[in-house]
Amino acid sequence: MEDDIIADPLPRKRTVGVDVGGVLVGGSAPVVVQSMTNTDTADVDATVAQVAALARAGSEIVRITVDRDESAAAVPKVRERLDRLGVSVPLVGDFHYIGHKLLADHPACAEALAKYRINPGNVGFKDKRDRQFGAIIETAIRYDKPVRIGVNWGSLDQELLTRLMDENNDLSEPRSARAVTREAMAQSALLSGELAEEIGLPRSRIILSAKVSQVQDLIAVYRDLARRCDYALHLGLTEAGMGTKGIVASSAAMGILLQEGIGDTIRVSLTPEPGGDRTREVQVAQELLQTMGFRQFLPVVAACPGCGRTTSTVFQELAEAIQSDIRTNMPVWREKYPGVEALNVAVMGCIVNGPGESKHADIGISLPGTGESPSAPVFVDGKKVTTLRGPKIAEDFQAMVADYIEKRFGSGNGRAAAE
Ligand code: SF4
Repeated sequence: MEDDIIADPLPRKRTVGVDVGGVLVGGSAPVVVQSMTNTDTADVDATVAQVAALARAGSEIVRITVDRDESAAAVPKVRERLDRLGVSVPLVGDFHYIGHKLLADHPACAEALAKYRINPGNVGFKDKRDRQFGAIIETAIRYDKPVRIGVNWGSLDQELLTRLMDENNDLSEPRSARAVTREAMAQSALLSGELAEEIGLPRSRIILSAKVSQVQDLIAVYRDLARRCDYALHLGLTEAGMGTKGIVASSAAMGILLQEGIGDTIRVSLTPEPGGDRTREVQVAQELLQTMGFRQFLPVVAACPGCGRTTSTVFQELAEAIQSDIRTNMPVWREKYPGVEALNVAVMGCIVNGPGESKHADIGISLPGTGESPSAPVFVDGKKVTTLRGPKIAEDFQAMVADYIEKRFGSGNGRAAAE
């Protein structure tokens, strides 16, 4: 009976796969994590540093702004510098208003980019619109590049919206303005996709997105798009906001769509705190996909929330230290310890759930709660292997985790290969 109420994700909706500089988006590929820089692309040093940081954090595609001649001229230099650093992440150029001109005037930029992002709402207006859109598509065909047709709520094609609003007003039972706007979003993306195909760009070179800032609108628009087409879909909530608000809104909206099998690549658009770390958006995207069971990027550290039974902060500090150790080491571990992302570590605050949870992890520790004897049993593969005592419990456990990783995932170990 219980099986009937277990919620599994719906099968992934099959879309036409698109090769973005060697990274497959859609088709049978896992959901791809991407991000965007906030540097001035013309500042080559800053852009290279941020792209490299995003890539090292796990971003599989990185988008950069190409807004003027100086930034278009910088793109091939950024690409070259990244290649020299061994950072092969594909770069996407984000174009608005003058993309057709920048791509025509800077052929090295057109070549260095792995994909062009076009916004049909600002590619050009009136009679220039189709001509300029067509010029970008022809460039994509010439350089054998894919495009993302990225519709945005804040820059929606006003001619299309006005026409749909007028048609709606003539209905005996008009729909709400919000419903018409959602329809305009979907139509703008779909009509632009069709136009690109008519010009000669194959469907396997086209990704669609339709970003809005409200969770319910995003869900509605993407459900509609997924029903009406098989283009690969890029998910993202635009203007998601800062801090927890942005994380919760993006996770709620994209989590529901991913559960329904919708979405081939995601970007979490977070407004960083002043001086904040841009790679946060990559962490959130990875954690969203990992926590839902779609992908594994890095070892999971299970930590209890703490409560009145453990008034010391030792276990929080240890959980934080282990988590940050893992994040820092992952770029190297990924190469050195194949399969390490499947590791489970538990850091628990007291005897109530500590031993039980630790036994379920690959390696876990149950720290002493208030009033408990100052000892911490450690469990490896479900069995208690030792009890740590003294002031260096945290360091000793960190060393045990490192040792476990080396033994289980290091070269010369048959176990990782066999699993
Ligand atoms: S394991 Fe112990 S400290 Fe942690 S939440 Fe449970 S009862 Fe509280």
